[in-house]
Amino acid sequence: LHLDSFPRYPLTFGPTPIEPLPRLSAALGGKVALYAKREDCNSGLAFGGNKLRKLEYIVPDAIASGADTLVSIGGVQSNHTRMVAATAAKIGMNCVVVQESWVPHEDAVYDRVGNILLTRLMGADSRIVPDGFDIGIRRSWEDAIQSVRDAGGKPYGIPAGASVHPLGGLGYVAFAEEVRAQEAELGFAFDYIIVCVVTGSTQAGMIVGFAADGRAERVIGIDASGTPAQTRAQVREIVDRTAHLVELGRPVRDAEIVILEDYAYPAYGVPSAETNAAIRLAARTEAMITDPVYEGKSMQGMIDLVRKGFFPEGAKVLYAHLGGAPAINGYSYTYRNG
Ligand code: PLP
Repeated sequence: LHLDSFPRYPLTFGPTPIEPLPRLSAALGGKVALYAKREDCNSGLAFGGNKLRKLEYIVPDAIASGADTLVSIGGVQSNHTRMVAATAAKIGMNCVVVQESWVPHEDAVYDRVGNILLTRLMGADSRIVPDGFDIGIRRSWEDAIQSVRDAGGKPYGIPAGASVHPLGGLGYVAFAEEVRAQEAELGFAFDYIIVCVVTGSTQAGMIVGFAADGRAERVIGIDASGTPAQTRAQVREIVDRTAHLVELGRPVRDAEIVILEDYAYPAYGVPSAETNAAIRLAARTEAMITDPVYEGKSMQGMIDLVRKGFFPEGAKVLYAHLGGAPAINGYSYTYRNG
């Protein structure tokens, strides 16, 4: 795959560790070996996470454009806007982030702690707007870009999740290349990869990266958007664009895009009893912290699939931990008793 022709601005420490999860595997019957690839520990920038891998391929374009302000969008507890704020601070740009009211909540500190606290701390101009959940291009984002121009600045727009940006899929193509190199060292290959999907470029990049060795359909996306038709369409679009960029050399078939829709209930950002049970199990067996919006749902999905016998006995399953733990601070009522 032709990744080297794209400039990359380093924001991460380098390859992320792959960690065995023996106690979680045992708690689920011990027939499947679970591992985690710790994308949540990928950087020293404001707790890191999947967005930094994507932004590494976007920053060179932002710098080349002559911009002085990064402008992005997400929910109030968006990890993505935290990561854009971190990137702006690190490269010496200003930052404006629109924070939409994606999640109904009762927690008194929801809009003051976790991701939004960190975003504000890093100096971003964080603007809360009343709009609800939507992964597409938003008017409020376009307005924010215009407001930077009106104030004499030079904006560089990054859409939600850095996903529909033309270069947004490259970071997770690089992830697949990295996993292949780590597999060579480990002496075995993973049979399945579990990944949370919402705005789409994480899974889309992985699909293209793993299509290169014929295992794209082993990348199991767990939808956490609750709007899976839109997410699937966005993944399809990013797969096609990214496959073209890295010269995959063949179209990706629809059957190679696997997204399970069963775990996003009751809604984006709202954990079910099963999500919370999964978060507690991962925390109590492996001290691995997952959040109620994203990784808690993919953890719930992986646990359910193991229990249902979806993976054959002896399978090695790699859980992509994409980050997101800071959001848990906005759910203090939910976890006040653990
Ligand atoms: N996990 C975390 C912690 C995230 O912040 C996101 C962002 O949306 C995702 C998973 C989903 O990734 P994507 O938006 O690329 O589908």
